Amino acid sequence: MRLNHVLKVAAGAVALAVVATGCGGGSDKTASQHAADGKLTVGIKYDQPGLGLHNKDGSFSGFDVDVAKFVADKMGVKPENITFKEAPSAQRETLIQNGQVDFIAATYSITDTRKEKVDFAGPYLLTGQSLLVRADNTDITGAESLNGNKKLCSVKGSTPAQNVKDKYAKEVQLQEYDTYSLCVEALKSGSVDAVTTDDVILRGYAAQSPGALKVVGAPFTVEKYGIGVKKGDTESRTKINDAIDAMISSGAWKTALEKNFAGTGFQAPAPPQVDRY
Ligand code: GLU
Repeated sequence: MRLNHVLKVAAGAVALAVVATGCGGGSDKTASQHAADGKLTVGIKYDQPGLGLHNKDGSFSGFDVDVAKFVADKMGVKPENITFKEAPSAQRETLIQNGQVDFIAATYSITDTRKEKVDFAGPYLLTGQSLLVRADNTDITGAESLNGNKKLCSVKGSTPAQNVKDKYAKEVQLQEYDTYSLCVEALKSGSVDAVTTDDVILRGYAAQSPGALKVVGAPFTVEKYGIGVKKGDTESRTKINDAIDAMISSGAWKTALEKNFAGTGFQAPAPPQVDRY
């Protein structure tokens, strides 16, 4: 009887804790409030060379990581006080909404649909959807060759996967994986004919497998990378926009982009104009 009572109280306490943090074990504090406490949790990709990579030695690298560190620094948080968390494409809105991350810098395109759930600082990089194929492929040369029931791989919850469903659903077979590195494995093993996502992401994979993979055609969408924050958190969004402006005007933006794509042949685009909507 007594034990039963204790269990009931404990269960009640757990239920309350879940409600208090908005379910999902995250925090209710804003990014700015966490920064004022001296720490931040940032969502990045773990498997995208040049952009967001979790290295074997435990370190993190890539342009998104450098942007996140620059932003954190401007918010008063040292790099060693950033906790990086993997943010797969399909989980980004949920991670922000549940307070499991303070912000996300993970090749995250600003879209109206996503703006219904989260807000975006930026953009901090412009790119566009493109195609990655095996180096010996000759029949896929760009978006116009997406026909003949080809097998195309992209990632769940991403804008390129949605674009294929909207525009090429009858022409190609779309296979959706959780990450682009899984798509690249499938491409190398021959189980898909092409991988589609943003040009800058595909450039990183092509550079990792010289002579084996190549990017083909011209980008056929415009993707604007933003930093995702909790919807309505104007204070944090403004601070992040200020930091992006400072990164661009100081030259740190260009240096970071060139450093992360050195030797890949990737041409650094002009920096975008931050949109303070
Ligand atoms: N930028 C696109 C998106 O946000 C594709 C890259 C990604 O999935 O991270 O969906």
